[in-house]
Amino acid sequence: MRIGVVEDDDGVADALMDALEANRITAQRMSRGGDLLIRHPDFDLILLDLGLPDMDGIEVLRRLRRISAVPVIILTARDDERSVVRGLRNGADDYLVKPARMTELLARVEAIRRRAARARQTVSTTTREFGDLTIDLAGRNISVAGEAVPLTTKEFDLLAALVDNPGTATSRQQLMDQVWGDTFVSVSKSLDVHMTALRAKLGRPARIETIRGFGYRWIG
Ligand code: CA
Repeated sequence: MRIGVVEDDDGVADALMDALEANRITAQRMSRGGDLLIRHPDFDLILLDLGLPDMDGIEVLRRLRRISAVPVIILTARDDERSVVRGLRNGADDYLVKPARMTELLARVEAIRRRAARARQTVSTTTREFGDLTIDLAGRNISVAGEAVPLTTKEFDLLAALVDNPGTATSRQQLMDQVWGDTFVSVSKSLDVHMTALRAKLGRPARIETIRGFGYRWIG
């Protein structure tokens, strides 16, 4: 397993690299968030600091999640609840506060590695079919009546959040949390825009029911 360590502090980075190598884990260090956005395909797991010189770690994570599903453990000095929640909502797989005990870090790395291995085994069962609509959740593509329909990342995330619970009402808040990670006032409008686009692309209006004043329901 190859781990990418994103850490601008030389002392912290050296200690991490030494400990990982002592456990026969190949690790490479990057000191800027921008480096990760380029080099992420080289790694199986990322340890991400939040206080980085070029951009905030949460922003790095947000951008990374548009292009990659590589597991990420945030490793940071920030221990307030808001930072933890923002990190996890924006796609971190785990969160550790510095200074982290190395045994704990290694245990969490191992847990994520096992989860990833299990996910690879079940990847073939992540296709959902609703009439002539086929949704490949792992491959992130859909087809309607046999024709591939290109969706944007947000449109796909919205669709995936809806079909997760067929027949069950999903609140706007829940959708915004799931798709945008952190909810700002402006996102409410974005949700409407993306939902309109998604409905138009699906061309199956009866599949997404609007529940006034609450949210939406996927009709399976
Ligand atoms: Ca830092």
